[in-house]
Amino acid sequence: MKTYIETYGCQMNEYDSEIIRTVLRDNKYEILDQIDGAEVVLLNTCAIRENAHQKIFHRLNHLRALKKKGSVKVIGVLGCMAQSLRKDLAEFSPVVDVVAGPDSYKRLPSLLNSARETGSKGFDFSLSEWETYSDISPKREVGTNAWIAIMRGCDNFCTFCVVPYTRGRERSRSPESIVSETERVVSEGFRQVTLLGQNVNSYKYEDYDFADLMKMVGDVPGLRRVRFTSPHPKDFPRKLLHLIADHPKLCKQIHMPLQAGSDTVLERMNRTYTKQEFYDLVDDIRDILPGVSLTTDIICGFSGESDKDFEDTVEVVERVRFDSAFIFKYSERKNTIASRKHPDDVPEEKKTERTVRLNDIQRRISLERNEEEIGKTFEVMIEQPSKKNPDEWMGRNDQNKGVVFHAPQYKIGDIVRVKITKAGTNTLIGDLAEGSASPELCRVSYNDQLFQ
Ligand code: SF4
Repeated sequence: MKTYIETYGCQMNEYDSEIIRTVLRDNKYEILDQIDGAEVVLLNTCAIRENAHQKIFHRLNHLRALKKKGSVKVIGVLGCMAQSLRKDLAEFSPVVDVVAGPDSYKRLPSLLNSARETGSKGFDFSLSEWETYSDISPKREVGTNAWIAIMRGCDNFCTFCVVPYTRGRERSRSPESIVSETERVVSEGFRQVTLLGQNVNSYKYEDYDFADLMKMVGDVPGLRRVRFTSPHPKDFPRKLLHLIADHPKLCKQIHMPLQAGSDTVLERMNRTYTKQEFYDLVDDIRDILPGVSLTTDIICGFSGESDKDFEDTVEVVERVRFDSAFIFKYSERKNTIASRKHPDDVPEEKKTERTVRLNDIQRRISLERNEEEIGKTFEVMIEQPSKKNPDEWMGRNDQNKGVVFHAPQYKIGDIVRVKITKAGTNTLIGDLAEGSASPELCRVSYNDQLFQ
């Protein structure tokens, strides 16, 4: 069966779609990279905000027409929304044939086969205490970065978040399986891995913690860079900061979700840290890792957020000066603790006003932080042609900032030195600098000694 998979939401979903493709290919499904000609269409969905749900319902309406025409035979909804809204999705029948949550992907071939052969609906929402898909080696699109999930699920129960209900309890993969996946992606030509988890600093496998794992992955020969996302501020290990400082392959970039700056709101969110504890962590990060880039997530207008609470968030943003931030309006999710205990009582206009104001502040700070980079020289890994000018490259420095420059003699995956000459809010612009390895040496890819 010709199958097309559409992925929505976070990087964990992108990774899961790679797992799904692999499971289906191993069961003789042909994976298409466009919907034309597909007999099976699978939507791998996200449940984090209301507009993510709306997108899927719109998409299903469109797919209903394709199914009526007869070109599409089977439609499946997978992922977090499938897990959280199974009843609503069942109501969409006969459009939806298969609904499967994030722990049910190994059962997909049998669910799809029965839907195709007998017209029976297939549903599987079971959450597992052990499924990590460690035994599946996802086949990735070619690129510079490979995402590797190191754990699944979350036990934190932030009151606004649906993940503990859609992805279940925390469980970690063995370090051996993660290291061997890293070795494999390096042998396939990837030069960077990003370790993924809902809360990576909860990683625990026997006696190994997250810092131990980072060291093991960083030591894989031929790998050039290791990133991770996302940690939780409540228990960020200082041991990891020292490791990043000492290990040349661990990138000096930390995405640390703040969510809110007011202690009252943080408590209502069950984030289990205070504004002062967040400040102390940021001070430690910057002491141990000078030049680190810090990014964050912030929710505006969570239940009960007063003007004073919001000003606390503004204060944190002004004081910490994140390099960039994802700032969103609060969107109540069904079945979360907040939906039962904390009414969504901040008026929509207030949420919008606060989101716009905070975004304006952050854009100014991002520009100022980027302007501080002018005159500095960074090692940049080339990722793709620049969107604005395909004759130039877009790459990323260690801090994960996008850098645009002209160097036609180099190729994707090469690491070169670039001196920054200009800065925008989202991008740095520069010139190839002295000290870059020649293109030939860049491509002697796996000789670490060249780069250390
Ligand atoms: S740490 Fe909180 S916000 Fe992040 S996935 Fe877990 S419950 Fe959700």
